Amino acid sequence: MSTFQAPKGTYDLTPPRSATFLAVREAISAPLRDSGYGYIETPGFENVELFARGVGESTDIVTKEMYTLTTKGGDQLALRPEGTASVLRAALEANLHKAGNLPVKLWYSGSYYRYERPQAGRYRHFSQVGAEAIGTEDPALDAELIILADQAYRSLGLRRFRILLNSLGDKECRPVYREALQTFLRDLDLDEETRRRIEINPLRVLDDKRADVQKQLTDAPKLRDYLCDACKAYHEEVRALLTAAGVAFEDDEKLVRGLDYYTRTTFEFVHDGLGSQSAVGGGGRYDGLSEMIGGPELPSVGWALGVDRTVLALEAESVELDLPATTSVYAVPLGEEARRVLFGVVTELRRAGIAADFAFGGRGLKGAMKSANRSGARYTLVAGERDLAEGVVQLKDMESGEQSAVPLAEAAAELAKRLG
Ligand code: ATP
Ligand code: MG
Repeated sequence: MSTFQAPKGTYDLTPPRSATFLAVREAISAPLRDSGYGYIETPGFENVELFARGVGESTDIVTKEMYTLTTKGGDQLALRPEGTASVLRAALEANLHKAGNLPVKLWYSGSYYRYERPQAGRYRHFSQVGAEAIGTEDPALDAELIILADQAYRSLGLRRFRILLNSLGDKECRPVYREALQTFLRDLDLDEETRRRIEINPLRVLDDKRADVQKQLTDAPKLRDYLCDACKAYHEEVRALLTAAGVAFEDDEKLVRGLDYYTRTTFEFVHDGLGSQSAVGGGGRYDGLSEMIGGPELPSVGWALGVDRTVLALEAESVELDLPATTSVYAVPLGEEARRVLFGVVTELRRAGIAADFAFGGRGLKGAMKSANRSGARYTLVAGERDLAEGVVQLKDMESGEQSAVPLAEAAAELAKRLG
């Protein structure tokens, strides 16, 4: 070990486990790429105001969890705590919404930073794959995103996840509900911080995890009873489309989510094998966000799935991903001349698209064969001085154990044929 360790709340991805992370990112993004979502990448930091306005001044993310810094030039920046505000900022800046092809459908993958209390499934640096469909109000778009996330999790082999669904209303009905809720909450026995929250973002009080708070909330007014007709119809359509697609969900009227910008459809993916950090992903509609960051009216919907927790969910379900072997052929030279010759064969194989590796460092046969085994290669190529004198290499099938001499000049072609 060196003098240094990964900072608190972070961890390194190293082989072989790191391969699972790549496979998860690939599996989550594949359904998006097949459904018209284009890849977008934005900086790891942004103007701090973007998140203050876009995520919400009263959210935990902005008040407690954001890494902020002042540059030498005096700019106030923040490491990105989430993706949506940045993606919308970038789409507006590039005028993607003006091309007349709404919705703008985008997907992203990257690292996010939150100063949280580190624990299993909760880190200060974590990774998400996300999707946003910007500029269109259509319940089929909300349904599409939920269906694609469901498809991604299923393609990974996950089974013990559930989809929680709710509607948060819109700018017509939510304010009426908000006031009714505030009136109810002000009469409860709550601490100072929660009382402040009632005035800034009362819906989030519903999300309070403490039992003594939850006990007092039993008779709280229900958002469902306040939804306007348009919101009700919209939500019913989302539910009907999910049902028609065979995607099971649970109505959860307590689901409010921690971000200020959500309207109407809100959902969360939870996994039952993860203990208290059970949310593997979440999202919803954010019709007001564009205007909040100075853009035009652009009703949008999106989600972000946590890669770290998805990997933990796979481990909780003991799912073994079918990861492709990274090396197909492993070459073991015995002696100087063989080293030069086999290194040439390996280069030829690689150029032909065959994954090949080589016993570097001139170790003996035993150690080299151990490495060959560890590499998972289907075939090994071994050559010593006697083989070279005869113009052959020994080709060993690591599955059957069969070994045969193959003319050196034909080795690459023979391997290409056998590997299909
Ligand atoms: P939680 O309620 O667990 O704090 P959240 O509502 O803050 O989650 P989102 O902002 O919706 O989470 O992010 C989407 C997903 O990103 C989460 O469902 C989770 O899988 C992942 N995620 C969020 N914060 C962290 C973290 N600190 N460490 C690891 N993964 C995280
Ligand atoms: Mg959180």
